[in-house]
Amino acid sequence: MFAKAFFRPITRISLRTMSTEREQQVISNLNKVRKEVAELSNTARLVAVSKYMPAEDIEYAAKTGQTHFGENYVQELVEKSQKLPATIDWHFIGHLQSNKCKTVAAIPNLFLVETIDGIKKADALNKACGTVGRQNKLKVYVQVNTSGEEAKSGVPASEALDVCKHIKENCPALELYGLMTIGMKDRDAANNPDFEKIVQLRTDIQAELQLDRFEASFGMSSDFKEALSEGSNNVRVGTAIFGGRPPKA
Ligand SMILES: *Cc1c(COP(=O)(O)O)cnc(C)c1O
Repeated sequence: MFAKAFFRPITRISLRTMSTEREQQVISNLNKVRKEVAELSNTARLVAVSKYMPAEDIEYAAKTGQTHFGENYVQELVEKSQKLPATIDWHFIGHLQSNKCKTVAAIPNLFLVETIDGIKKADALNKACGTVGRQNKLKVYVQVNTSGEEAKSGVPASEALDVCKHIKENCPALELYGLMTIGMKDRDAANNPDFEKIVQLRTDIQAELQLDRFEASFGMSSDFKEALSEGSNNVRVGTAIFGGRPPKA
């Protein structure tokens, strides 16, 4: 045993000191999730949800080729986007306040705002894109409250078409790209009515508005595999990659 340790190649030792335990953990979690996603879908996008996590964690994940990252808080997203490479595709997945639309729209490598929760919000973000002189159309999802819980944001399922239609027809700075739902906590993942509802809405609205491309974003750490089996185009996975977060303040 002694001899084995003694003759351990020197490169192993130096690699060990270079990459921290945390880096190894993030990369190994990410590779596992990525493999699980790839087994279930060729086309779905994996968004690594990095809220509350330090910028270093995002750098570790980005080194392995992960480009899509999701953040919930405007200030945190702004700080990270300034600090981290412009090659990252950011997703804003938190509640968007109207008075923060300009700040969000000004982030050049913002890929998608997943949480448009009404016509007024769409108009505010559309206007903000013009004000800050955004060059490319900003992709948006309409967030749908599929579970009907009072505390959840998002438009009721019955109003999703109207909001989508409004964006398509009246918000030239925005690109209507799909729907998003969080769904109820602790649903039976294998038989989740929120998933069924969002998939049905995707089909109906895509047909009604004659859209070439229209996605549905659903599935998180606890149920992304089931979500992919149900046809999710975009899963948002935090805990399974970065570990647990501190409880909400
Ligand atoms: C935090 C968050 C996630 C990630 O949740 P996990 O359970 O940690 O994977 C996904 N979507 C939204 C909207 C979130 O706020």
